[in-house]
Parts: sequence; C-alpha cells; structure tokens
Amino acid sequence: MGSFRDVVTTSKEHLQILQDGLLQTINPKRVIIAGAGLAGLTAAYLLKNAGHDVVVLEGNTRVGGRVFTVREPFEEGNHWEVGAMRIPEHHHLVLALAEKFNLPLIPYISSSDNNLIYVNNRLVRQYEYDENPELVNFGLSEDEKGKTAAELLEEALRPFYTLYINSNEEERQRLKEQFEPYSMEAFLRDNPFGGSLSEEAVHMIKVLVGVVGFPEMSFIDTFEAIISTTFSDVSFFQIEGGNDLLAQALFHEVEEEVLFGERVIRIIQNDSSVQVITRRNDGVEKTFDGDLLITTIPFTAFQFIDVVPRHSIKPDKWRIIQTLPYVPANKVGLEFSEKFWEEDGMEGGSLVTDLPYQFIFYPSDAIGQPGGGVINATYSWGNNARLWVSLSEEERIQQALDFVASIHGEKVYETFIKGLTYNWDEHPYSAGCFTLYAPYQAASYPAVIKRPEGHIHFAGEHASDVHAWMEGAIDSGVRVALEINNGEEAG
Ligand SMILES: Cc1cc2nc3c(=O)[nH]c(=O)nc-3n(C[C@H](O)[C@H](O)[C@H](O)COP(=O)(O)OP(=O)(O)OC[C@H]3O[C@@H](n4cnc5c(N)ncnc54)[C@H](O)[C@@H]3O)c2cc1C
Repeated sequence: MGSFRDVVTTSKEHLQILQDGLLQTINPKRVIIAGAGLAGLTAAYLLKNAGHDVVVLEGNTRVGGRVFTVREPFEEGNHWEVGAMRIPEHHHLVLALAEKFNLPLIPYISSSDNNLIYVNNRLVRQYEYDENPELVNFGLSEDEKGKTAAELLEEALRPFYTLYINSNEEERQRLKEQFEPYSMEAFLRDNPFGGSLSEEAVHMIKVLVGVVGFPEMSFIDTFEAIISTTFSDVSFFQIEGGNDLLAQALFHEVEEEVLFGERVIRIIQNDSSVQVITRRNDGVEKTFDGDLLITTIPFTAFQFIDVVPRHSIKPDKWRIIQTLPYVPANKVGLEFSEKFWEEDGMEGGSLVTDLPYQFIFYPSDAIGQPGGGVINATYSWGNNARLWVSLSEEERIQQALDFVASIHGEKVYETFIKGLTYNWDEHPYSAGCFTLYAPYQAASYPAVIKRPEGHIHFAGEHASDVHAWMEGAIDSGVRVALEINNGEEAG
C-alpha cells in the first residue's frame, strides 16, 4: 500500500504552544467556553495557564465529548471505545498531549494481512485477496481485473497527490478551488487526470477502503481526512486503559473551571461583552457573563441555540452552520468471556463487509492474555449507520451478534456476556459523528468557519483542517486560545 499521509501536517507553532504554553497575558479576559471535549479542554488549559479567567460550560455529565470510553457495565478491565479509538502516528498534537500527561500508548492494530474481507458472500483473508483480487467478484472491467482496491485507488489518486503535496499554500488553495466541485465518487468515475474507473471498481473501493455511505462527500475532504490516513501505511496507537484518559488528564488541569449539566441554550452579544444562558435538566436557567465566548459545540447541535441578536453572526456563517454535513456513525460493542477471535487469527485487526455492519474491529490490547474482551462488532458510517436507527437496542445487539456468529461460529453465542449500542445521530450533544465537507465547500468554508463573530470564537473538530480526528479538535483549541491571547477580535 502506498502512502498519502503527508497531505495534512501539524502546525509546528501549535505543537510548541501545546508543549510550552502561551505567553502570560497582561490583559486577562473572562472567557466562557462551551463544551468540555478535547477542543474546549485544550483551550481552557492553555488560557487558564496564561492568566485568563476561564469557565467551561458542559451540557453533559462527563468530559470528553466524542472521546467516550465505556467501562461499565462491562467486566472489570474491559472497555469499549464508542468514539475515538485510534491515534495515527503522525497526529503529533495528540501524541504530544499524551506524552505531557505521561499516558502510556500501546499499538492499535487497525489492519494486518490476516484481516478478514466478507463481501459478495465470500470470506477471505487480506493476503488471499491481495494475491488474487478476483476471489471476491466485483465484476470489474477487463483492464481493472487482477488489481486490488488499493492498487486502483493508488493509481487514481497518485497524480493529484503529487501535485498537492508539492504545492505551496497559494497553489494548494487554487487546487482546492479547482477540485472543490468533485465528490469522491465523481472524481474516481470521471478522473480529471485520466484513467477513470468503472462503477464496479468504484463500488469495490468504497466497500474495501471503507468510504461506502458517503461517496457524495467532498473529494478533497475525504482524501485529506479519511483516505490519507486510513488507506496509507500508517501505524496507530491507543492510550492504555482507554482514550478518555486524555480528556481526563486535561480535565484535572481545569477541574475547578468545568461546570457539568450546563446546557447552553442562548447566547446574547452586546458591544463589549457576551452573556451565555444555560438550562439544567431540572429546568433551572443560569446566566454567565464574559468578555469572550469560545464555542466548541458541533454545528449540528449549535443550531438549537438562540443567538441574540441573530445578525451578530454574519449570514455566510449561518449558512454554513446550517449546511455543514456530519457523517452518521453507528457502533455495537459486544462483550465475550473468551477471546475466540484470537484463535481465528485476529490479534487486533478488522473485518470489512458490504453488509450494514461495515467493520468489525478486534481488540489490540491484552492480546494473548487470559479472559475476554469487547469487540466493536459493528462500526458503520454514512448510510449504513443510518439504517441502524430503524432497529431497537435489542435488535441491534442481536443483529450484530448473529453476524459475528456467522463469521466465528457457535462459540460466539456460548461466550457472549452483554452488548451495548451507540448511534451518534441520537447523541444530543453532537447529533452526528464528524464533519466532512460536501462538494463546493472545501475551499471556501474553512476561513468562514474559523472567523470570530463579535465576541464569539469558534473551535472544535469542525473548525479545524483535520476533520474526523482528535488532532483537529486539539489543533482548533490551540488556535482559538492563541487568537484570544493575542487579542484578535472579529474584523
Ligand atoms: C464514532 C467516532 C469515531 C471516531 N474515531 C476517531 C479515531 O479513531 N481517532 C481520532 O483521532 N478521532 C476519532 N473521532 C473524532 C474525534 O472523536 C473528534 O474529532 C473529537 O473528539 C472532537 O472533539 P471536539 O472537542 O471538537 O468536539 P466534542 O468532543 O463533540 O465536544 C463538544 C462538547 O460540547 C458539549 N456540548 C454540545 N452541545 C452543548 C451545549 N448546548 N451546551 C453545553 N455543552 C454542549 C458536548 O457534550 C461535548 O462535550 C471519532 C469520532 C466518533 C464520533
């Protein structure tokens, strides 16, 4: 497999700030931060240490947002990552934070030659498919036959990648503008560099590379956010004991500043300050006064907030808030008393399928150790994820259990303990999984999304250049803390 990983690079300035902190301020501000996910916690940590007066309003009863490690009701020592599960080796901000807080990292084995492919009713190993792609018959055209999905995708994307990677900032912006209208599907079917692929080949790529369900999304963003990482030769890590330990470590630095159960329902801006109104579950409303507000609330959930006056956010930003797409995601976690998957050659790694389960991810921690574990028995995105909303909790678990049994046999039922499901569309504080631009958005949206509006600054994964990853959330937290420490206001 080739590598497209250098498409997105970490800002060296932001890395330095994360490691050394911001300059101490001589002009401290009262900063309200909405959301205690990684973006909000990063900003709170940096601004507090620089001498600002910070309060973090979190609607939920926990920190971490979309970094969500579930331990109970599983057996002691078992956990399930409902949100972020793996850290790519080149996501330097996440790794720097983990190092700063002495959090041990262990490998996350995303794929291996032993990976399973179950498509078109055939079950094969990755190495078997790589030797003979015709084992899973996608009905490719004559000139495509004998090539793997990875090879076809590599050929299709390499010319664009070469241009992109060798471009300076201005040239890259022009490339973004030029290729902005393309969806991933449109680019592959009608490749502007020649060598367009058949519908069958594109379907094979979508299934096996895992972009099935959102082929209509922006070519540029799908390339930058998903393909550059998951398709490339990238190693992954996870935090030993659960990725939420990263959010917990940040939280310990700002524990007194975080208020839980404070759901932001209204933001009032005036000439010199901002007021934020929250409503607790018991109906009690509170008002918080600040010089500035950082909102890290995903634009999906942000639409339920009343902004007064509404025109204190400019119309082009409202349009983006209302139209920024979020990809749906569904997971089913199943706990077993024995790691039967290891006997079947799955020490970490994954199964990919053209069925609505899309992926199984097998645990890469505690490999070879006695006892059971929790597998991500279903991890589906896009249209596949949406399908699961139609099923009850029990049906989702049964469906996933039966699927795992169809791969691994009767021992699945014999060792099953319990299951949990999570559909991110149903989560009131993010109403979706992660941002991916649609065509006509990748070049023009980022600057508008990041632009402060009056006393409101915008952070979060959606307000970053690394959609779908913790790296983006942290990067946006650093950016916004820097903006405020530098005294930058809306233009
Ligand atoms: C299923 C899934 C898998 C993922 N896999 C990976 C992965 O493997 N690796 C990786 O690096 N990244 C992964 N990500 C992405 C990563 O989790 C996110 O990019 C990152 O956690 C986003 O952080 P954030 O602070 O921007 O937003 P969030 O974590 O969403 O934080 C926003 C916070 O705001 C709070 N909030 C929302 N509305 C209100 C309100 N009205 N009032 C007050 N508070 C509010 C929320 O409760 C939340 O705590 C995954 C995400 C999901 C959902």
